[in-house]
Amino acid sequence: MAFVSLNHCLKDARENGYAVGQFNINGLIWIQAILRTAERLDSPVIVAASDRLVDYLGGFKTIAGMVDHLMEEMKITVPVVLHLDHGQSVERCFAAVDAGFSSVMYDGSHLPIKENIQNTKKVADYAHSKWVSVEAEVGSVGGMEDGLVGGIKYADLNECVELVSCTKVDALAAALGSVHGKYQGEPKLGFAEMEAISKEAGVPLVLHGASGIPSQQIQKAIALGHAKININTECNLAWRKKMAETLTENPEVFEPRALTLPSLVTIEEVVEEKMREFGSVNRVSEMAAKRS
Ligand SMILES: [Zn+2]
Repeated sequence: MAFVSLNHCLKDARENGYAVGQFNINGLIWIQAILRTAERLDSPVIVAASDRLVDYLGGFKTIAGMVDHLMEEMKITVPVVLHLDHGQSVERCFAAVDAGFSSVMYDGSHLPIKENIQNTKKVADYAHSKWVSVEAEVGSVGGMEDGLVGGIKYADLNECVELVSCTKVDALAAALGSVHGKYQGEPKLGFAEMEAISKEAGVPLVLHGASGIPSQQIQKAIALGHAKININTECNLAWRKKMAETLTENPEVFEPRALTLPSLVTIEEVVEEKMREFGSVNRVSEMAAKRS
């Protein structure tokens, strides 16, 4: 089954009050864990590669081929979006599209808004001509993730509306207080701004840095317009913890498979917990029933 674009699943998510999880990959076992859990739970899923990890993962074509072939070998039938997370340049977004990604995020959040809009539009025009969806970012998600460092800057309502109307992007990451990586203290999301941006911009919102946000705030973010929620840190922390336990319990073991397989199961547990929390479980059958 080919990859689908964000539009394929975010519209249904908005209409039915749930969100589709984006899970970032850090290697083969992440992809297997994410795909297997999505299929088992009958949930749409977004598999994402952070641009900063693309070379480490073997390049755009390797990633697209790896996910595509695993879907075939694992007989995956649920809709899968292959997404570029935090695309660093227009050219790299084009490269992801050419390699077969079905969705790209262009991150021009560090640029003045005019330049952000210009570049996002270039990406959107090219991607849309190939039926690939585009996500943009306004404001700045703080924290640190995969070497991406930034301070929090709240998204401005007028800038969000202008960017969406000029570029026709399919989803918008409006930074409203979430941070990448680990939180220091309780996260404070700007719910009033969120409601206004969702209403005025008119596209599904994307919540970055969702690892560590309490469930109650996640539910409110979904109710106020978020249809895509990104998870990275929680899977990685679970992986690291299990890996440390396995090494401590089996100091003599050196076979890589024996060391990595237990952490694959742990990643699956995190993905399952998030899919249940976001309400995307059993949605694939429900979407199909509605169509027939
Ligand atoms: Zn992010």
